[in-house]
Amino acid sequence: MPMNIAIDGPVGAGKSSIADQVAQRLHILHLDTGAMYRTVALYMLRNGIDPQDEQTVSAHCGEADVRVAYRDGAQRTMLGGEDVSDLIRTGEVSAAASAISKWPAVRRRMVAAQREIAATADMLIDGRDIGTVVLPDATVKIFLTATPEARATRRWKEYQAKGIDTPYEEVLADVKQRDYQDTHRAAAPLKQADDAVLLDTSELDFEQSLAAMKKIIAEKVNKTIK
Ligand code: C5P
Repeated sequence: MPMNIAIDGPVGAGKSSIADQVAQRLHILHLDTGAMYRTVALYMLRNGIDPQDEQTVSAHCGEADVRVAYRDGAQRTMLGGEDVSDLIRTGEVSAAASAISKWPAVRRRMVAAQREIAATADMLIDGRDIGTVVLPDATVKIFLTATPEARATRRWKEYQAKGIDTPYEEVLADVKQRDYQDTHRAAAPLKQADDAVLLDTSELDFEQSLAAMKKIIAEKVNKTIK
């Protein structure tokens, strides 16, 4: 059975950036499951389907041909053969992804697809429900989190670096709103699996968070990670 490392946590906890580094050092692939939900959301937007309309989204979600491919070890997310990896990173798609990920019909398809991918190779998989629903038997489970303020500060600094001038209060409100949506939806809400190791990075910088995650994984798999 392949080794699966499940990493769950709220928005802005550093899942993708830290997870990506850890996967590279372990020489395993990194599956970003949020990108798959984003791709379904893009399909709905392109087809004029309201992401909040559960019935129509559920009826059409099977038409979205979502796949992942790896180029030089990095995930590319495909919609019907088109590489949409960059197109799914807009605010509009984020909001739509948050809406469509509430619907059980969408989740069923994504969970099945993610299990299939995870069965093919050793992988690090990040999302919201990986340790609880997608891979309850994962080799290692980590719940990566930080206070809303710490996560909002990081995001605000990223925006500043990109020249995007959004007030900190607005970023914090957005983080809190997405936390609320992720933890209060009926289908597969974000929560720490009973057997997941909690990693709170509120007081840690990137390198310290990376070191902490490597240590947790190394202890579980009995292997040192460079
Ligand atoms: O992680 P990211 O922000 O890219 O995720 C996009 C959306 O997909 C979020 O709203 C999140 O709640 C949802 N999602 C999910 N389950 C996952 C991964 C992401 O519901 N496993």
